[in-house]
Amino acid sequence: MADGSIDLVQQVRSHLESLRAAGVLFVPRGEALVHAPLRVVAKQADVAPVVAPEQEDPLETRQRELEVLRAEVAACDKCSELFATRLQTVFGTGPLDAEVAFVGEAPGSGEDAQGEPFVGKSGHLLRRIIAACQLPASREYLFNIIKCRPPKNRPTTTTECANCRDFFRRQFDLVKPKYVVALGLTASKLLTQKGGALSGLRGQVHEYRGVPLVCTHHPNDIENDETGQLKRETWDDMKLLLRTMGREVPK
Ligand code: SF4
Repeated sequence: MADGSIDLVQQVRSHLESLRAAGVLFVPRGEALVHAPLRVVAKQADVAPVVAPEQEDPLETRQRELEVLRAEVAACDKCSELFATRLQTVFGTGPLDAEVAFVGEAPGSGEDAQGEPFVGKSGHLLRRIIAACQLPASREYLFNIIKCRPPKNRPTTTTECANCRDFFRRQFDLVKPKYVVALGLTASKLLTQKGGALSGLRGQVHEYRGVPLVCTHHPNDIENDETGQLKRETWDDMKLLLRTMGREVPK
């Protein structure tokens, strides 16, 4: 036991003995003994070092917010028919600060089964288009306007697109792509906020949330076109994209 503690015990004992000599037989539980260690604790707390919270990398913050959004989407039941028939939601894939974001309309059956956008034939064709543009596949972000497959791959409804619009915008703002390509009429109309045929939206550079936007055909439509016309037109659109990006157009 330390010297200071022995002094304290002796002081308490002599204090109690003087009280008994004075006729005091009972005392309340010793407050002084209770307070003494508290003062030591308070003294230790006074000198405790203050640790500043670490600054988080803004990229990590965005990645974390994107995962929160992904979880929100996975739990969403705003479109009751899609909620009842989907196997899972299809969020999107690719890096933050993507070079180009490719935006389709909605997941199909393959995407619904795998939880990934642009799988199967159309995904294979889209990746061939990206490779033909000599864009690094690892720098592109792929996603859809809505996150659930419409039954039997029917077209999306205006209500479904409106229900999912906020998810799409938040995702787009977190990913922050430098350029965006709308694939097909639905995505093109929604991103440009213009009506009419796809032919009227192609061949010019629009803007979506301040990001240069080019409209072109959806890979599914290119696959189904036996004339080769849509393939040629898509290549024209990709050349426009590459020129807008300041990149060389491959021969
Ligand atoms: S399409 Fe979008 S809004 Fe509709 S249920 Fe799926 S996640 Fe929700």
